[in-house]
Amino acid sequence: KPLHVNEIVMDVINRFQHEKNHHVHLIDKARNGIVKADEERLVQVFVNIISNAIKFSPNGGDVAIKLENKGRMLQVAVQDEGIGIAKADISELFQKFKRIDNSARRKIGGTGLGLAICREIISMHNGDIWIESEEGSGTTVYFTLPVENKEASMLDKQSHTGANVLIVEDDSS
Ligand code: ATP
Ligand code: MG
Repeated sequence: KPLHVNEIVMDVINRFQHEKNHHVHLIDKARNGIVKADEERLVQVFVNIISNAIKFSPNGGDVAIKLENKGRMLQVAVQDEGIGIAKADISELFQKFKRIDNSARRKIGGTGLGLAICREIISMHNGDIWIESEEGSGTTVYFTLPVENKEASMLDKQSHTGANVLIVEDDSS
């Protein structure tokens, strides 16, 4: 079913409205935010990533979400101002039960499944997910999803309704 990611993000952000020390906001909407995806699973991806952004920003800070069309893909970026991740650890975090154990994190709970689930869902939808981070200053989690081609879905609608395309000839020559 085609989904409007702009709307889904707004709904998910609403769930985090009550956060006192973290402001979760959408800074850029997508021009074409229509994707073919399982709504419940896509919501789960957003919730996992935003929860991490909040959880690993124990001193508060903004969580900025940006949606951007990049060719045939929609790219989502969720940026936080939290404790960050050391370069060497980033690639392992998508494995099940993988967590980082250091003094900044000792008090922060979790099972280490969130990102593994996100990766599974995104790859099911033919997208990618990756992380860029600077230890001590913040993390950005990116993922992509293929966008629905507008022309293709319009043609599809036409053939279902049986509408015809009229070709008007220009006889002014
Ligand atoms: P769960 O999601 O199952 O409750 P979790 O949050 O610990 O547990 P993941 O979401 O898979 O597990 O994340 C794995 C690890 O990656 C985290 O334990 C944390 O160390 C690190 N991490 C994830 N997101 C961030 C972030 N935004 N900032 C800093 N570290 C992060
Ligand atoms: Mg998590």
